[in-house]
Amino acid sequence: MTTEEGKLLISGLEIQAVRKDIKNIHVGVYPPNGRVRIAVPTGTTDEKIKLVIISKYKWIRKQREKFLNQKRETPREYVTGESHYFMGQRYILNVITGSYRGRIEITGRKRMAMYVSPHANIEDRKIVMERFYRACLSKELDKAVSKWEERLGVQANEIRIRKMKTKWGSANIKNKRIWISLELAKKSPSCIEYVVVHELTHFIERKHDDKFKSIMDSALPNWRLVRDELNDFIY
Ligand SMILES: [Zn+2]
Repeated sequence: MTTEEGKLLISGLEIQAVRKDIKNIHVGVYPPNGRVRIAVPTGTTDEKIKLVIISKYKWIRKQREKFLNQKRETPREYVTGESHYFMGQRYILNVITGSYRGRIEITGRKRMAMYVSPHANIEDRKIVMERFYRACLSKELDKAVSKWEERLGVQANEIRIRKMKTKWGSANIKNKRIWISLELAKKSPSCIEYVVVHELTHFIERKHDDKFKSIMDSALPNWRLVRDELNDFIY
């Protein structure tokens, strides 16, 4: 079965169009950002796709609004018993108070301990968690970046982590700088690797075109699966 994938811009909406050996047309709107995907039989014209999207436009908009309004993450309180994600695993938090300056330790396969002062409020605890995330993510990024810089034959001048809610990463091609979302610390190392390969690939090809995809295909043959793991799961 051959699958052909492309992007279309219809009424200001970016549509992911997939042509493959199927009989019916499927339109889907996916979390977390309301990505729109249409799967159509091979040979369907862009014009036909446009008509289908327009006829479903109201429904698509409604679905997208639902996702965009939905809180992607229930607010965390950083208390004992609460779930926290780290490197693709779910951990149960155990908060231990004492004369600590604030640190996190992985204490078991599913256990995470937070050592904080008894006066630490939610905001202080959040900072402790983010510091831990940042340090661990930074280590993972170092590993992945040096591995893939060599394999792809490119070099990044700088990798920076920052809080980004809508993107996992971005690349500044001119300055050879890559930004990575701190949220990625919650995801598995293979997701982290995928984002690194994606952003480094932009140093070879700016657009998400066929050349870009063929570089991704030879670097990480299962990148589409990892991308879906990364984007279709809400905590
Ligand atoms: Zn990109």
